[in-house]
Amino acid sequence: MPDQSLIDDLITANHILFRQGVVDAYGHVSARSPDDPEHFFLTWAVAPALARASDVLTFDLEGNTPDAAGRELYSERYIHAAVYKNRPDVMGVVHSHSPAIIPFTVCDVELQPIWHMSAFLADGVGLFDTQDVAGDTDLLIKNIELGEALAKTLGTGWVALLRGHGNVVAGRSVREAVYRAIYTEANAQLQEKALRMGTRVKYLTPGEAALMNAYMKPDVRRPWELWAHDADGR
Ligand code: MN
Repeated sequence: MPDQSLIDDLITANHILFRQGVVDAYGHVSARSPDDPEHFFLTWAVAPALARASDVLTFDLEGNTPDAAGRELYSERYIHAAVYKNRPDVMGVVHSHSPAIIPFTVCDVELQPIWHMSAFLADGVGLFDTQDVAGDTDLLIKNIELGEALAKTLGTGWVALLRGHGNVVAGRSVREAVYRAIYTEANAQLQEKALRMGTRVKYLTPGEAALMNAYMKPDVRRPWELWAHDADGR
């Protein structure tokens, strides 16, 4: 039986990501079970803004669930399964098509931390291209093999871009994954603006990013309280 406060966080995470413009009808967020790390929680294929606790299903690290009961599943649940399988430190995962990052998936411009709020980007942003591993596809991560290849691209970082598609963002908690998904989108918007003003953009140094990352805590309390109040009134 999952911890109710984690399920509450997961549902709030769904609502926050919609309110903050990271997901629309598409995109999803999951939380790994702290008591049973070989399993994670994810809703069936509902639009995130409409998610309720009764929509949450338990999945294994191959992306299977015994709980579907005829309900449609997210075709890209393998993203979550593969990241959890490859990264024991990851407790929350967001997959989205957040719009400002899309140009960075198709142009030869690296997404880099433009401000301290996105210092986690300094740990590396991989670029995954389904074309490299499977040729022409519908670009969806629809099986565990594609998920594994994506997880390999994520490596030890927190963000990987999917060419012509979106991104995957990981955190040490579901709250941190939400924080990072929001600030990955914000960073992309600001970086694009800065690059229009000048080509010699000064990004955070690795040392600055490391100090900021040491300062940030996985519970991201202050923004989480604000976003949860805004999305759910709690
Ligand atoms: Mn997708």
